[in-house]
Amino acid sequence: MNPEQVPITRLEGVGEARAQDLAKMGIKSMLDLMMYFPYRYEDYRIQPIHTLEHDQRATVRGTIYGPVSLAWFGKKKSRISAKLEVEGIQLTLVWFNQPYLKNKLHAGMSIVLSGKWDRHRLQLTVERTFLTAEEQKRAQGQLEPVYSVSGAIKSYSLRKWIKQAFVQYGRSVKEVLPTELVDRYKLMGRAEAMYRLHFPKDQYIGELGRRRMVYEELFLYQLKLVAWREQNRTVSTGIEHQFTDELLKPLIDGLPFPLTGAQNRVVKEILRDMRAVGAMNRLVQGDVGSGKTVVAAIALYASYLSGYQGAMMVPTEILAEQHLQSLTELLAPLGVTLVPLTGRMTVGEKREALASIADGLADIVVGTHALIQEGVDYAKLGLVITDEQHRFGVKQRAHLRAKGETPDVLYMTATPIPRTLSITAFGDMDVSVIDEMPRGRQPVQTHWVKPSTWEKVISFIDQACSTGHQAYVICPLIEESEKVDLANAHEIYEQLKVVLSQYQIGLLHGKMAAREKDEVMRAYAANDVQVLVSTTVVEVGVNVPNATVMVIYDANRFGLAQLHQLRGRVGRGSAAATCILVADPNSENGVERMRVMTETTDGFEIARRDLELRGPGDFFGFKQSGLPEFKVADLMEDVQILETARNDAATLLRADDFWQRTDLADLHQWLQAEEAKRENVD
Ligand code: ADP
Ligand code: MG
Repeated sequence: MNPEQVPITRLEGVGEARAQDLAKMGIKSMLDLMMYFPYRYEDYRIQPIHTLEHDQRATVRGTIYGPVSLAWFGKKKSRISAKLEVEGIQLTLVWFNQPYLKNKLHAGMSIVLSGKWDRHRLQLTVERTFLTAEEQKRAQGQLEPVYSVSGAIKSYSLRKWIKQAFVQYGRSVKEVLPTELVDRYKLMGRAEAMYRLHFPKDQYIGELGRRRMVYEELFLYQLKLVAWREQNRTVSTGIEHQFTDELLKPLIDGLPFPLTGAQNRVVKEILRDMRAVGAMNRLVQGDVGSGKTVVAAIALYASYLSGYQGAMMVPTEILAEQHLQSLTELLAPLGVTLVPLTGRMTVGEKREALASIADGLADIVVGTHALIQEGVDYAKLGLVITDEQHRFGVKQRAHLRAKGETPDVLYMTATPIPRTLSITAFGDMDVSVIDEMPRGRQPVQTHWVKPSTWEKVISFIDQACSTGHQAYVICPLIEESEKVDLANAHEIYEQLKVVLSQYQIGLLHGKMAAREKDEVMRAYAANDVQVLVSTTVVEVGVNVPNATVMVIYDANRFGLAQLHQLRGRVGRGSAAATCILVADPNSENGVERMRVMTETTDGFEIARRDLELRGPGDFFGFKQSGLPEFKVADLMEDVQILETARNDAATLLRADDFWQRTDLADLHQWLQAEEAKRENVD
């Protein structure tokens, strides 16, 4: 009987109530139980005395000698004291609050004990006492699994049930991996590997079991992603954009600069996708300042030339405004009509925009999420580009598809995503990387200073502005301490107005009315304002190449990714630029972040360090992460297995006989079920 189909209530001792608790832990079938792996192991194997470490858990075997005494402190608290001889050395033993052991302990008995070791006093504070030979043998035998539990479920009952499940159903666990892969890597069989994850016997066997399950988990996940990607590529409902390179020339030749090699390569990849039958689903990664906007402009123009509309979606109003402006500069002279569409347009403006989108007068629409909302009907949507957005999710894609539209989709991000995360979170996409900066850029010089040097920071700003450049001063604004933060920003603004009175100072924060924000931003872009004091609204995408100084106040309150984004606002022209981090971090982690920022400007290196400091779960922050939760795999540790599994999955799936192989029937079925689940998101 396939354990996937056996309800958990078949186990001895599991009735309705227990089954409900188990269900809350995600355990419904016998297979779920067998796959509910421990999060750590208790190691009760006996250690030689000289290997014990101070303040760590230790397990020893010895002989009790002398009296065993029990002392009470009040009604509830007690202490048992005794002596133990181990390898000819005498140790002190104490048991807190376990008075019932008093009568079971006596001089001359051989015993195994586990607890916390104090090297200075030669003392063991006992937590587990193994009295009988049976218990002692078991303790020595293996690592003991510890499970995360909820409700009335106890870790030791789980242990018992899991053992029972393996005894009864272990032989019915089906292999899911193709035989050739199991053979190639000499992988442990599935049932055994699952069992060894619970009861590893020793570290080596446990590791073999874990590696097998990690491989399986990553292989299946990648197989699914690759299948989706292939499917996107081959669906015949995609748009075959038709345009010639000749027609694109006026745009490319008219640029004030030649494209970098990387831009050229990425443009080629995009145009190839657009011409192909299938729907494009491509992610473009390029560090801040690598020049993603022109790449977007070329793709949009190609869509226009093919007779389709393009939509460019960005996360903020300011960015929408700015993109509209730079795209208009590039494309309007070529006869392209661009319209904005944002949440804060007046009803009249919106009605007009919607009408022009619906009747096809608008060639390119630039805006926020409003772009794909209900009530927006495109005459002929051919291309959607999203900028600075991790996931314009599966959901929104499904939304568009449901409207009967399968436009090409291009995602642009400046967040350098380490490869492990990118092939996991974005494994169903093709990825292009703009890994080259435009010529003439100098890396931003970064300094970390203490708040007490604020005066010096101000004179540095003064100096930069006196040579015709501009500066940002960024203050954190975090919701929990919003009032204080806003006050800070205001205070700095007022101060700078006085001490830098020869310049125009601007203030920008999220609480301002939209029009005010635009005005400040426009004034700054036109150099009517020289110093912009701002909260993090300028974080993503803002482009004012004349700005050469970025001061980040209380920099330790930002994460690395955010600091990198902020720093990327300067150094966008040919002049040298400086970033000053003003911070007095009160944590190790904060100091480390400041250090990383002063050490490197390489976005990928920063992302790697960020990942180390935060771990993959937090990496994408509160944004919809797109990262799956793995049962066994660890994205930091299992990089190599991930790469291997991905290659194997792709090779297997692309083999001509994949769908004909009868030995893979289970895998086919599983893929189809996953595909059905994917279609149903919403
Ligand atoms: P990001 O990738 O951060 O969105 P942008 O597209 O805003 O970068 O480009 C940053 C700046 O670099 C802009 O001022 C842009 O005009 C300029 N730029 C883009 N491509 C090139 C190039 N090939 N050579 C020189 N400057 C370029
Ligand atoms: Mg950009």
